[in-house]
Amino acid sequence: MKQSMMFIPTLREIPSDADVRSHQLLLRAGFVRQNAAGVYSFLPLGKKVLQKVEKIVREEMERAGAVELLMPALQQAELWQESGRWYSYGPEMMRMQDRHNRDFALGPTHEEMITSLVRDEINSYKKLPLTLYQIQTKFRDEKRPRFGILRGREFLMKDAYSFHANHESLDEVYEKLFQAYSNIFSRCGLDFRAVIADSGAMGGKDTHEFMVLSDIGEDTIAYSDSSSFAANIEMAPVIVNYEVSHEAEAQLAKVDTPNQHSIEEVSKFLSVPKEKCIKSMLFKVDDQYVLVLVRGDHEVNDIKIKNILEASVVELATPKEAKEVLGCTIGSLGPVGVPSSVCILSDHAVKFMVNGICGANEEGMHFSGVNPLRDLENIQYEDVRFIQEGDPSPDGKGKVVFAKGIEVGHVFKLGTRYSEAMNATFLDENGKSRPMIMGCYGIGVSRTVAAIAEQFNDENGLVWPRSVSPFDLHLVPINTKQEDQKELSDKLYELLTKDYEVLYDDRMERPGVKFADSDLIGLPIRITVGKRAAEGIVEVKIRQTGESMEINTENLIETIEKFIVK
Ligand code: ATP
Ligand code: MG
Repeated sequence: MKQSMMFIPTLREIPSDADVRSHQLLLRAGFVRQNAAGVYSFLPLGKKVLQKVEKIVREEMERAGAVELLMPALQQAELWQESGRWYSYGPEMMRMQDRHNRDFALGPTHEEMITSLVRDEINSYKKLPLTLYQIQTKFRDEKRPRFGILRGREFLMKDAYSFHANHESLDEVYEKLFQAYSNIFSRCGLDFRAVIADSGAMGGKDTHEFMVLSDIGEDTIAYSDSSSFAANIEMAPVIVNYEVSHEAEAQLAKVDTPNQHSIEEVSKFLSVPKEKCIKSMLFKVDDQYVLVLVRGDHEVNDIKIKNILEASVVELATPKEAKEVLGCTIGSLGPVGVPSSVCILSDHAVKFMVNGICGANEEGMHFSGVNPLRDLENIQYEDVRFIQEGDPSPDGKGKVVFAKGIEVGHVFKLGTRYSEAMNATFLDENGKSRPMIMGCYGIGVSRTVAAIAEQFNDENGLVWPRSVSPFDLHLVPINTKQEDQKELSDKLYELLTKDYEVLYDDRMERPGVKFADSDLIGLPIRITVGKRAAEGIVEVKIRQTGESMEINTENLIETIEKFIVK
């Protein structure tokens, strides 16, 4: 493609509204432009990268046995009313009415649409399993659209849905798609982890998120320093053999702690380490009050509480509620002598504490000498805390370290959540009607482009891996007015386009401008045609390493072959 015919509006300055590298560079290198908050145009170069990612996605999905279709973005409210999500989805759903005042949404996802499609056409186990996917624009009115195309309000997603007659079949397809996702992100060149994620009350092993490691990621991943274990910090189980202390048990005693509320304050005031304090927090779990205990140096994980108690809503009690239930406000709450109407859920670590400190349910008072096994009653000991760096890896191999991650993909065993609500049934071998078992699998295609840009850049611009680069080669004559340079460039362009995608900078720009643009755009190899054109000598520069060499055009293909990753 001749650059004079392209539309690549590069910028020299860093746009003031872009605060992460990928966003800055995708704007500066002319890949995308913002139209409204979280709404972007993909300019020709950006569109090319999208297409490359889409192609990889399609190849791997088809290899895993999925079939492509395309569903409408415009979805009638009735479908969402059937599943109940018309009411529960909240303000993220873009809603509208047509001229007859009928309610519609612009699809944020397609479980309802696909379930209705499949239920109308498939009614026998003989036609299952079936895995369908599409690559399509989604709409979500995100509260905080940010980082450019990383979190848009209109974005491109690959979403797949599988339908099964039994759980074994779902497990099989889930495995296959898990592998397909690993292949997709590897082929995009990304450094990623597949992490165990939260699936609500369904338990941890039935959903994985694919996370690209990056400091700007919004999720924290806990992974092992010596195995492949990785989990979203929300889900990582804590498996620690706490040491039993041999300290002699002291008596339970009340101590004054005027105006000392937080663990920080209390431990300082009483000169005891934080791990000697018991943190007590009152939660409202659905309609029940639950006092949750963790060691002072640990943090409560409310998602674990939600899963353990199979609850739908877990929220902190207000100070007023705490006063009503336990007789004092937050800051002096504790587990000693709690009314039996309040359950106590404690982290395992608390059980092994000796002579701890906890709130006395009296303003400005704490207990010292608390020995949970001796002093506390009606406690359920569970894993309710967040894992921490340095904890043993839950698989028993190595220690846990943290990293930030960008979620680019998500695979999820849905079960019969939608098929039951929407009556998507089939007849099994015995002629019995049963709800279909489903899985769903998403990839943020446009987000993946941003994640690649985030991992592949340097101070001069983007550095695309070949697999997703908008072009393979950048052919740059220094001065197109020089006949020998133009002639050689034209000849090389013709030759190279046979095997490669070539961007030919035939513009009448100064060399400085051409080089700066070329670095910004970041194609894997630049071929510069300059002063030595008459001798048939060109410069080949590898974008990723900065390595450059003078090459006789006779050896050009060979050199490109050596450096370009297949
Ligand atoms: P997030 O936690 O980032 O909001 P999500 O859990 O809402 O993601 P899913 O509903 O699982 O995401 O959607 C599937 C995939 O779509 C995600 O893994 C992500 O890659 C992508 N995605 C989700 N929301 C956006 C968005 N606002 N902009 C771009 N991509 C998105
Ligand atoms: Mg979301």
